[in-house]
Formats: sequence, structure tokens, C-alpha cells
Amino acid sequence: MNKCLKEACGVFGIYSKGKNVAEFIFYGLQALQHRGQESAGIAVSDGDDILVFKDLGLVSQVFSEQNLAPLQGSIGIGHTRYSTTGKNIWKNSQPIYRMFNDEVFAIAHNGNLTNTDEIRKEQMRKDIRFETSTDTEVIASLIENSGCLSLEEAVKEAVDKIKGSYSLVILSKDALFAVRDPHGFRPLVIGEREGDWIIASETCALDIIDADFVREVDPGEIIIIDKDGMRSQMMLDVDRISMCVFELIYFARPDSYLYGKNIFELRHRMGRQLAIESPAEADIVIGVPDSGTPAAQGYSAESGIPYIDGLIKNRYIGRTFIQPTQEIRQIGVKLKLNPLKEIIRGKRLVVVDDSIVRGNTSKKVIQMLYNAGAKEVHMRITSPPLLFPCYYGVDMATKKEFIASHRTLEDIRKYLNLDSLRYLSIDGLVSAIGHSKDKFCFACFNGDYPVPVNEDIYPEKDFTDSEDYINSDILKANH
Ligand code: AMP
Repeated sequence: MNKCLKEACGVFGIYSKGKNVAEFIFYGLQALQHRGQESAGIAVSDGDDILVFKDLGLVSQVFSEQNLAPLQGSIGIGHTRYSTTGKNIWKNSQPIYRMFNDEVFAIAHNGNLTNTDEIRKEQMRKDIRFETSTDTEVIASLIENSGCLSLEEAVKEAVDKIKGSYSLVILSKDALFAVRDPHGFRPLVIGEREGDWIIASETCALDIIDADFVREVDPGEIIIIDKDGMRSQMMLDVDRISMCVFELIYFARPDSYLYGKNIFELRHRMGRQLAIESPAEADIVIGVPDSGTPAAQGYSAESGIPYIDGLIKNRYIGRTFIQPTQEIRQIGVKLKLNPLKEIIRGKRLVVVDDSIVRGNTSKKVIQMLYNAGAKEVHMRITSPPLLFPCYYGVDMATKKEFIASHRTLEDIRKYLNLDSLRYLSIDGLVSAIGHSKDKFCFACFNGDYPVPVNEDIYPEKDFTDSEDYINSDILKANH
């Protein structure tokens, strides 16, 4: 059984009329660091050759003045990667590069294909070899072995065969391509800076280099930027736009604008909506930083209960390479969060977070708050319960691992040792977002997968699809 890699990543591309672009890509990737912390890479073209540098680690760990200096060229792409399965090894990092009609091209991908295995098997029957287990290599291989005369044709042909989620940037020696799948699962935006074109996963990567937001790449659209400027083509029929709602809830940075709206404001509204749906008798509202903070402020604004930064986050921890011994594991959350005891002692708290996945972090945070003297803890979550795995590029969990997939709301409350627990409803979420519901993918909440998934390649199937395991009151609330 071959489980595909799920990629929750950040991509960046730039076509400049004459400037060296490596540093711009470096800064763009730093702004996208939240989308992936396992590896980082940059590919640039000087018009003749493409040079790629990539390694495991954070953008600031991978790149230095010394190794950016040789990356000379005015077109380039970059990638930050977060894999969820398979090894975090160098050869799985991106951009990956291949040959097309004797010329190198490089590709970087955010998303997750759902027909990787089928394509890989078909390609292997033609004696095509693969070096990695990534779905990105499958796309690169389709392009490399297409037999087309132009890269543009090869990209279009490849895109016709792949299914699932993909926001791509592709670099040839003299052009930059951007492609977004016809469902528009993952974001992809276009920016402009002094006549140079930029493509990025999120608008925060445009801000950092002072580029203006132009528009999003439309679902099903291919953008080609070369010496003649930018042109665009719709390559695939769009029958159901299914933007990932979890980008708005958790994944994207609060200062980004996605689908025409600012993420901070949306999260603030989710918090307001939560206060309307699930009020609590409490003295203060706190958020679990950083993802819960905007919504906690919204909850406070709506309820009139004062908001206080009750949990202080250590921003310099980054990844922790700790051994999983029991003693060390208990330190885990404390490395990142510390409660303000003076504020919390004797208080009834509303604690707002964006989601509960396995419940491990939440359990420790709640224990920490009680240890700091909280009198009551009422947890409010700005998403519906996560019940179904994401096959389109967000690293989540298997069905078995989701705390809500095999426990009732009351069971979860007891397990987390809370005085009360409430989730935001799907309808409440939709009203906070202010877009029509049918434009989004809610599969992780309701199991309605916009692109069919071959579950044979996913071990979740072994668990059960039986509703016995799924908390029926939660499920009902979600539909
Ligand atoms: P837990 O209590 O262990 O389920 O962790 C919940 C926390 O994980 C929440 O604070 C979320 O902000 C965060 N979270 C949600 N989805 C993800 C994800 N895909 N990757 C990493 N963290 C996540």
C-alpha cells in the first residue's frame, strides 16, 4: 500500500524584467513559512540555465548570503514544504527539476493529487522511473515524458490528467507558469512590482516585497509570463469551485487576503458568530495564540466579556527535536505557551481556539490553565468538529485520530476536563465568511469530498465509515 504524501506548502514565483530575483524569493518564502517548515528551496533561471538550491529546514536555516549569491537570474520559483507522511528527506524537497526536450524545468506544488498512484503505475508500465514518492514528481514526469513540442503544451496535457488539488509554479529557462486546479482548493495570487510579475500562495508574500495585489489565479486557469508579458488561459472546465474553508479558519496568515477577504477579519467574525451561537457566563476571554487570537477578540467584542492575552507564546521555539519520552512530552506545550497566572487565577475563562484535531494540545493547554488557578474553563472552537481526513493538501489526521470521530460532544468535554465545550456550526461559519456555501470544500467537517478519493490507498478505510463511530449529534449539526 502506497500512501501519498500530503503537501501543505507555500509556493512563490517571480518574473522580473532584469533584476536578480533570488532575494525576493527568499523574503517571499519567509512570509510563507507558516505553510511549511520542513524544507525550503529556490530555483532561478538566468535565461540559459536553471540553478536549484534546496535543503531541509526553515527558510532562514536553508539560505544564507553565501548560498543565495550564486543564484543569479531574473526568473525564479520557491517552495516551503510540510510533509505529513513519508520521510522528510532532501530528495522530496522542492522545487524539483526535470528535463523537457533537452532543457531543464523546475516545479513547485501546493496541494495533493488524488490519482497519483494510478498515474505512477501507468508511467511505470512505460518504464518511467521515479526517485521519490511525491505527487509533484508525478506531475513533473508527465511533463517530461509528454512528447509535446512546447512546455506550455506539455503542462496543459499534464494538467488534463491529474486530479485533486494543485497550485503550481513552473519555471523554464525563459518563462514562469502558474496553474490552479479547477476546484481552486489551494489559494494562488498574482502580484505586480515595478513591472515585474509575482505569483504566491498568499498575499502576505506580496506585502513583504512591496508588490501590489493584482488578482487571484482563477480555478482552472493557467498563467504564462514571458518576455511578451502575462497571458492567461482557462484550461479546464470548472464544474464545482471548492475552496478550502480550513485555509480561512486556520491555515492562512491573518494578514493575508483570500477569496477577496482579509483573514483576520473573517476569524474575528467567526468569533462573533460563536459568541452568538454559544454564549458563556465568564469573566474573561482568552485565545490560544496565535491561531485562536482573532476569533477570541471577536468573541469578546460580541459578548462584551473582556479579552485578555492570558497565554503568552514563546515565538522563538520553532521546531522541537525532542525525544518522545513521557517526561519530555509533558514539557511539550509549556515550551510554547505559558499562562499569565495573575490574570487567570480565580477567573471563569472562555478559551477560544480555531480547531481541535486530536485533542492533545487542547488537553494540555486546559490543564495548564487550571494549574494557573482558573475557576472554570469554557472552550469555544471556531470550526465545526473535524471528522474526515483532508485529501487535498492540509495535514490533519486519520479518521481514527480525530477526537470527534469516535466521541460525543459530552465525551470530548469530559476528556478535555472542561466546564463546557461548543463548536461553531457549518451555517454559522458560512455566515461569518459571507460567501456562498457552495463555493467551499467542507469535506473535513461533513465528508462531502468534491473530488472522489481512492480510499484504497488510505489506511483510514480500515477504521470504519460506520456512523456508530461518528458522533451523530455533531454530524447532524454539520449538515
Ligand atoms: P489538538 O488539541 O492536539 O488537536 O491541537 C489543536 C491545535 O492544532 C489547534 O490549536 C489548531 O490551531 C492546530 N491545528 C489545526 N489543524 C492543524 C494542522 N493541519 N496542522 C497543525 N496544527 C493544526
